[in-house]
Amino acid sequence: MPSPFSLSHSDKKTNARTGKLKLAHGTIDTPFFMPVATKGSVKHLALNEVSKMGVRCLISNAFIFYLRPGLSTIKKAGGIHRFMKWNHGLFTDSGGFQILDETFLVARKEEGVVLNNPFTRKQELFTPERAIQVQNALGSDVAMCLDDVPRFGEKKGKVFYAETLKRTLHWASRCASAHQNKKQLLFGISQGGTFLDLRKKGLVELNEMGFDGLALGGLAIGEPKPTMQKIVSLARKTIDKNKPLYVMGLGSPEDIIQAIANGADIFDSVFPARTARHGLALTSKGRISIKNNHYAADFSTLDENCACWVCENYTKALLHHLAKNSEESGFRFLTHHNLSFVQKTIETARIHIREGTFSSFSKDFLKKYRV
Ligand SMILES: [Zn+2]
Repeated sequence: MPSPFSLSHSDKKTNARTGKLKLAHGTIDTPFFMPVATKGSVKHLALNEVSKMGVRCLISNAFIFYLRPGLSTIKKAGGIHRFMKWNHGLFTDSGGFQILDETFLVARKEEGVVLNNPFTRKQELFTPERAIQVQNALGSDVAMCLDDVPRFGEKKGKVFYAETLKRTLHWASRCASAHQNKKQLLFGISQGGTFLDLRKKGLVELNEMGFDGLALGGLAIGEPKPTMQKIVSLARKTIDKNKPLYVMGLGSPEDIIQAIANGADIFDSVFPARTARHGLALTSKGRISIKNNHYAADFSTLDENCACWVCENYTKALLHHLAKNSEESGFRFLTHHNLSFVQKTIETARIHIREGTFSSFSKDFLKKYRV
């Protein structure tokens, strides 16, 4: 099987790279960012505006779709793309992250996780095979293995992380055996917390299992940022060049630019919407808090270097006023701008990698974002 990923340019001063990932719904330039569409929709935004920004891939959640609306509805629609009315790339996360949430989790076992279905109030066993069957049936472009994700804020020691890694690797092998949809790619997920030796062990094994790409899970949840970047570098050095590297949950522009410099190719996060809800705007001059009274009578555009419709039509004073009053449209406008900004930043990074100027671009960019 030829690799669905082809590398086109590698930066000489950093590990940044550009390439193309061939999916059933289009070939996508890497690196790229996926807005999160857990239930099939991106918070505050319509999918046609997301597509107009140049976004060519989203990530939904297979477990959430499995609960509601359920596979029979998706089958009647003709697949998840037709259900969502989205004709570009789509990843589905297996749901490991949600399953291990206290709302759902009853017990983790070797055969899978026992979970509470909040809609039927019945307990059921969700196995790696089931996670793959669900994603095969949904028909996303890329399925993710079921992984044993340590819960957010877990303070347990190395033995615990070694156990979750061991289970994640067993499950990855079962996912690979269960995968039947030939049009769909399958990515493995690395766990191991912030322990570099565990990460390395897992990545070596996953690399040998023949996945189309590999993801770093269990990061961007509060660990020190230099440690997270070290793991990205380690992953890039450990896995094959022709495997795309996906850092799950990474969304702030400065983290993305650093991870690109360390060799990462794919990202997803709710960051653009979450920052918008906090009244934060990402601009070409750095991050600003639009709620600051300084902007109450500032009638300039939000970002003079941004061509999005929010920057074309609204002033900082209006966005300040909407944010101060928690107006829904204010969250929507800031989300639109912030996602446009992240999208544009990655597009610009791709151009610089191709032209051999990524190193100076990233230095200038990170200065504005005070890293
Ligand atoms: Zn804008």
